[in-house]
Amino acid sequence: MQKVVTLKDMCVITRTAPMAGEVHGGRAKCLQRLVRMDFPVPKTVALSFDAVRQIAGGQPPAAAAILREFPTLPLLSVRPSSLNPDWGGPGAMLNIGMNAAKHEALCGTIGEDMATRLYMSFVQSYAVHVARLDAEEFNAAAHPSIDNLNAMLAVYEAETDAPFPQLAEVQLAEVLRTMARAWDSTSARLLRQAKGAPADAGLGLVVQEMALGIGAGESGYGVIQFIDPATGQRRATGRYKAQAVSGERLREQEDTLYLTRDPRGPSLEDRCPQVFAQLQALGAACRQKLREEMEVKFVLQDGAIKVLDAIRVQRSSRAAVRVAVDLAEDGIIPRDEAVMRVEPDALSELLHRQVAADATRDIITTGIAASPGAAAGRLVFSPYEAQASAARNESCVLMRRETTPEDIRGMHAAEAVVTVRGGITSHAAVIGRGLGLPCVVGADGLVIDERKRQVKGPRGRIFREGDIVTVDGTTGQLLNGQARTVEAALDDTFQTLLSWADELRDIGIRANADTPADAQSARNFMAQGIGLCRTEHMFFEEDRVNLMHEMIFSDSPEGRAAVLDRLLPLQRADFTEVFRIMEGLPVCIRLFDPPLHEFLPTGKAGMRDLADVLDLPLSQVVERIEQLEEYNPMLGMRGVRLGVTVPEIYEMQARAIFEATIAASETGAPVVPEIMIPLVSAMKEVELVQGRIDAVAAAVRAETGADFDYRLGVMVETPRAALRAADIAQHAAFLSFGTNDLTQMTYGLSRDDASRFMSDYVRLGVYDEDPFHRLDLDGVGELLRIGAERGRAGRPDVTLSICGEHGGDRAAIDFCRANGFDYVSCSPFRVPVARLTAAQLYLEGKAK
Ligand code: PEP
Ligand code: MG
Repeated sequence: MQKVVTLKDMCVITRTAPMAGEVHGGRAKCLQRLVRMDFPVPKTVALSFDAVRQIAGGQPPAAAAILREFPTLPLLSVRPSSLNPDWGGPGAMLNIGMNAAKHEALCGTIGEDMATRLYMSFVQSYAVHVARLDAEEFNAAAHPSIDNLNAMLAVYEAETDAPFPQLAEVQLAEVLRTMARAWDSTSARLLRQAKGAPADAGLGLVVQEMALGIGAGESGYGVIQFIDPATGQRRATGRYKAQAVSGERLREQEDTLYLTRDPRGPSLEDRCPQVFAQLQALGAACRQKLREEMEVKFVLQDGAIKVLDAIRVQRSSRAAVRVAVDLAEDGIIPRDEAVMRVEPDALSELLHRQVAADATRDIITTGIAASPGAAAGRLVFSPYEAQASAARNESCVLMRRETTPEDIRGMHAAEAVVTVRGGITSHAAVIGRGLGLPCVVGADGLVIDERKRQVKGPRGRIFREGDIVTVDGTTGQLLNGQARTVEAALDDTFQTLLSWADELRDIGIRANADTPADAQSARNFMAQGIGLCRTEHMFFEEDRVNLMHEMIFSDSPEGRAAVLDRLLPLQRADFTEVFRIMEGLPVCIRLFDPPLHEFLPTGKAGMRDLADVLDLPLSQVVERIEQLEEYNPMLGMRGVRLGVTVPEIYEMQARAIFEATIAASETGAPVVPEIMIPLVSAMKEVELVQGRIDAVAAAVRAETGADFDYRLGVMVETPRAALRAADIAQHAAFLSFGTNDLTQMTYGLSRDDASRFMSDYVRLGVYDEDPFHRLDLDGVGELLRIGAERGRAGRPDVTLSICGEHGGDRAAIDFCRANGFDYVSCSPFRVPVARLTAAQLYLEGKAK
C-alpha cells in the first residue's frame, strides 16, 4: 500500500513550529524568522525535504490535509525551498484553487476582468507546467476575456481528454507532484551540482495563502530590495504595481512605480511615504536579524503591508563583496564571516571586463575558459595582422591553431586570444593569464583556413577575417558579434575584504610574473613576491628575438658570447626594473627553460624573413632549424640540459641578475635574488650549474667591489627530481614544484595535446577532472609529498612552494597548507582569488 504524506512531514509556519533550514529549506526557515519578527505573513504550510522526496517517489501528496489548514479555501501559491536559493528549483505556481465557482465569486469582489486574468493565468501555467501541454496553445492568457478563457479551457480538454480540474485538492496534489519531480530530473541535478549543491540536496515546498493586492485604498503588489543588486550600494530598488496580484512580472510593465524617488518616473515613496517608511524599516530589521540583504515580496491591502516572502537578493559579484564588507563594518556579522561569504572566483570577475549578464549570446563554440574576462574585436589569424590592427587602433581577436612564442607580440596587440588546440597550461593560456587577456583554448570545433583567412565553426558557420567576435574567457565561449560587456570594478570594499583575508591566511601568495608589466600587476594585487619569472618571455620582445636568432645561429662559443654580450644589458635592465617594482619583496628568477627551437619560425615565409635578417642563405637557415628539431622537444634539449651544454646562456643571465641586484640595491632596499634552475632531474646538474653561478657571482663582486647575497634553488618538475629531492636540496635553498611539467611527466600526458581527448576522459570518468586544471592530489600529489618530505630531510630549512598553473587553485592551496609549504605562486590576476581562498581554508580548518 502506498504511504500518504502526512501532516508529520509538514507544518504550519508559526513562531514555535519545529523547523530547520536543513529540513524545510531556506525559504521556509526564513518565513518563520519573518513570523518571529512579527511581520504579517499569510498563513503558510512547509513541506519538508523528506515529504517532497516521498512525493517524487510516487507517494500521493496529502493535499486534502494541507487544504484543511486553509478553511476559507483561498487561492494558494507553492514555492520551492531548497537549502541554498542559488541552487535553483522549480518556478513558483500561483492561483491554485482557481475554478469556475471561485471565478464567479471573485467576479463579484475583484471584478470580472481581474478574476478572468487570474483564472487564465492559472490555466496557462497548469497546462504548460503540470499537464505539459504546448505553451503556444495557451498564449491567449495575455488577453483576458471570458471568450478567451473558454477557448483555453476547451483546448485543455481537447488535449488531455479531460476537463480542466476543478477540485483544489486535485490541483494542489498535481502541482506538488510536478514540482517534486522537476527537482529530481537529471538536468536540474546537474545544474545545481554545478553550483555546488551536494548530489542528495533536498527540496522543501511552501504552500501559502495568496494575498491579492486588489481592492479599496492603496492596494497592489511589489518587490523591494534594499541594495542595488549590481553594485551593492544601499538604496531601495524594485517595483510596485497598484491593483496587482503577486507573481506579476513587474519590471516588464510600464505602469509600475519605482520604490524610492527616481528621476525616471513616479515612486511609491512619493505616493505613500508612510508605507515606504515601513518597508524601509522592514528591510533594516531583516538586515539586522537575518544578517543579510533580502528581497521582500509584499502586498498592500488598503495601505496595510503583507509580507509574502523574503529571499537573499541575487547579486553581482561586485555587490557580494560590498554587502559582506558593509555588514561586517556595521557590526552585523563578524569579519571572518564576511571573508567566508564571498566566493573567491567572484573576485576574478571584478578584475576583468565581463559579458553582461543580460547580453544576448550567439555562441559560435565553447572551449576551455583559459583566462577570464571578455573582449570583442575583429577576427585576425596571424600575429602580424594583430599588430597591424593595433597600429590602426582597431581592436582585434587573435585566432590561432595554437600559439608559440612567435605569437607573443601578436598577443600583446590583440584584445583576446582563441586557440583551436591546447589546454589550461598551453602557451596561449599561460601568456593570456599573465597579461590579463581573455583567452579560450581547445576550441576544437573550429577549423581555420589560413589561406582563405577564415574559420569554419560548428554547423558550418563561416567567419572571415575582419568579422567581429567576442571572446568570453570566463565561460570559454566564443560569441558572434559584439556582446555587451560590463567594466572591471575594483573598489575600496574589495581591498578591505582582502586585507581582512591577509590577516587570517597562513600561507604565502606570490605571483608568476615575467615582465616589468606583470611585476606591476603582482604588486598592485599585493602578491608577496614573485615566485616564478620565466625569463625566456623577455627574449620575445621585438628588439631581442633577432639577437636570440643570431645566438642560435652562431656556431662557436665566441660567436655566442658576442651575441650574449648584447643581450646582457637588456636582461639587466629588465631585472633591475622588476627588482625596483618589487622592492622589499623576494623575486625568483628562473633561468632559461624552453628548447631553442621554439624561437625559430615554423613556416617558409618566416624562414625567409629570418634568412633576410641574418643575411644567410635560406638553405642554411632551413638546415639549422632541422638540426635543432627534436621528436619530443618538451623532453629534449631544454631547461638545465641547455644550461649544462650551452653554459654561456645561464652565465649571462646570472651576471644580468647580479648586476641588476647591485643597481636596484643602490636606490632601494637590498635585493636578495632567488635563482631557479628548471627541469632538473639529477643532483649533479645542480652542482654543476651552482659552481658556474658562484663563479659569476665572485667575478661580479670582484669587478664591482659590491657585495650581495643570492639564493639558488631548483624547480622540481620531473618525477626524478621529486624522488631525489633529499640530494638535490643539498644544493638548493628552495624547491619550487612546477606542477605543469610534473603533471605532464607523471601522467606521460602532453600538456599541449591533452585537450583532444580530455573532455572524453572526464565525461567517461577516467579522470575526475583535467589534471592540468585541478591538481591531481593522488598521483602528482604523492610526488609532491615525497618531494617535500625528502627535500626537508636533505635540508630542514628548505623553502617549499608550487608555481605551476595550479598555484591559485583551492585544492592546491589546501594541499600546500596541509603539507607545510611556504607559499604558492600563481598568475598576477589570480593573486586576489588565492589570498581569499587561503583565508577561507584557514577559517574552515579552524572551525573543524
Ligand atoms: C611548470 O612546469 O609547472 C612551470 C611552472 O613551468 P612552465 O609552465 O614554464 O613549463
Ligand atoms: Mg615547466
